[in-house]
Amino acid sequence: MEEDLVCQACNGIGRVVDKEGRSDVCGSCYGLGYVRGIYLTKPLSRSKVALKRALLSTFGGLGIFYAVFLFALIKYSFGPILTLAVLLAGHLVAVTFLVLYILYRAARDT
Ligand SMILES: [Zn+2]
Repeated sequence: MEEDLVCQACNGIGRVVDKEGRSDVCGSCYGLGYVRGIYLTKPLSRSKVALKRALLSTFGGLGIFYAVFLFALIKYSFGPILTLAVLLAGHLVAVTFLVLYILYRAARDT
């Protein structure tokens, strides 16, 4: 898929400085500062960055959950069934959050 790319020759300025120090219109983009094409190494799109952030915050949330869970486990010592239930519930909440977030993003992007 082609898109507007920042010109690599002039970094989007549209002008280049030659060996003699003279400023000239960039020959790659003809002064536009961008070219039509495909990134060779495609940078992360915005939705992917957002997804990465969602994943990180989910793992962060899980980390807090584990810390609180371990603390409570040591302090109150639940039975094994309750321990399992709390663990399952915690993961369910994390996964639900992530799925809802992805759906929300997908709905907004399209
Ligand atoms: Zn250029």
